[in-house]
Amino acid sequence: MISKFESIFNRKPELFLFNTMSQKKERFNPIEDNKARMYCCGLTVYNYAHIGNLRKYIFDDTLRRTLEFFEYNVTHQMNVTDIGHLESDADEGEDKLEKEAKKRGEDVLALARFYEKAFFDDLQKLNILMPHLITRATEHIDCMIDLIKRIEKNGYSYFSDGNLYFDVTKMKDYGKLARLDLSSLKAGARIEVDERKRSPYDFVLWFTNSKFKNHILNWESPWGEGFPGWHIECAAMSIKYLGEQFEIHTGGIDHIPVHHTNEIAEAEAATGKDWVKYWMHSEFLVLDKEEKMSKSLGNFITLNDIITKRINPLAYRFMCLNAHYRKKMIFSYKALESAQNGYWGLKEKVINEKEKCEAKEIEQKILENNYDINDFEIARFCKSHIEQFVTAISDDLNTPVAMSVIFNLLKDNSIPSRTKYATLLIFDRVLGLGFASFTRGQITEEQKKLIEEREVARKEKNFQKADQIRETLLSQGIVLQDTLDGTHYFLE
Ligand SMILES: [Zn+2]
Repeated sequence: MISKFESIFNRKPELFLFNTMSQKKERFNPIEDNKARMYCCGLTVYNYAHIGNLRKYIFDDTLRRTLEFFEYNVTHQMNVTDIGHLESDADEGEDKLEKEAKKRGEDVLALARFYEKAFFDDLQKLNILMPHLITRATEHIDCMIDLIKRIEKNGYSYFSDGNLYFDVTKMKDYGKLARLDLSSLKAGARIEVDERKRSPYDFVLWFTNSKFKNHILNWESPWGEGFPGWHIECAAMSIKYLGEQFEIHTGGIDHIPVHHTNEIAEAEAATGKDWVKYWMHSEFLVLDKEEKMSKSLGNFITLNDIITKRINPLAYRFMCLNAHYRKKMIFSYKALESAQNGYWGLKEKVINEKEKCEAKEIEQKILENNYDINDFEIARFCKSHIEQFVTAISDDLNTPVAMSVIFNLLKDNSIPSRTKYATLLIFDRVLGLGFASFTRGQITEEQKKLIEEREVARKEKNFQKADQIRETLLSQGIVLQDTLDGTHYFLE
């Protein structure tokens, strides 16, 4: 897509991404050819995803769409954790899935598949493109065992009281991602003293003797019957599908000190090579008072919770796009409702432009990426908007600025509608709000009459009645927008 814009920029625009490893924005430069291989840590499927989790998958999706927009050859992989994730991210506590399954008296894998399906449904409702590769931990035990064997052969492990541990002191740069100070034996408040470990930072590669004796899912291994530690699944499955070195690995910021730190130790101990080039982490969604949303704190809100409150999932996507992924996003229903109003305002404006032009023809060309920068006079009228949009997203995915470019474009009355609509569709390839699917929809004669009645009430300054009618229609799924040329409606 970007090569179409070269005449605008007089060069191929470059993409800059913030790398947690260097703590700097760096120019994206693939390891191999034009490849952008990205591994994104997925969900532990013992419950519904909460909207804080989903913020991270909206970030992954925006990153993928941006890389595709910049014409990289993207392979997007995500894991599904259906085994081995203990209650702490380290080695403490019971397996999250097994604990939940036992509590409910259900089969572990049936529970995992149920929540996996619910998670994928959420992704679809948020217009998130499904990863090219979705890999489940339980289906890759052999590949984890193979990687552990390589770690063992290279001398990075020891066996203690039934479990195989990773020996972090053998790794000269252990903890480089989180800049951990190993000399301080405190090892972070979350790591408990475990007498089986030589260093408090050591972690389990393979359990045969977990503290929870009645573990349900176990596999044969060279170290005895048992199950893998959590981190190895991401190291092993990403290496299997993306190679021993690849471009991008993403996760939430909570993954930095333990999970990603240990993944790096495992991968680099096994291969002897630098593993991932760019580490990207998305910030938390926090509740008022800066409290993190989490299942263990019991304060989590799911996508279905907000749908029940008549919030469109895409209004949540809109809200996320209006915050930078590296900034905390403060959540409240009030903020979400105001995001939904913003989303509705955008929808009305997009539909309005769409109705004034030959939308089908434009959609066909842009959505199939089968257009030229001079088609629909895009270059002539929207050169500066495209420049601003590309500059924003190339600056470490600055979506809030990209969104403001969209609103400025919509406001610009010097641009013909068809040019505007074509340019909006180009931008939507990155934002994923689904502009092409925006329509007013059909309403009944009765509903039309109500809208007219409300117009009259407004003219008579009977705002109470006008608001009542608005609420009635909203409860029927019809959104009203008061514009300069009268009241418009569309279906939610
Ligand atoms: Zn992971």
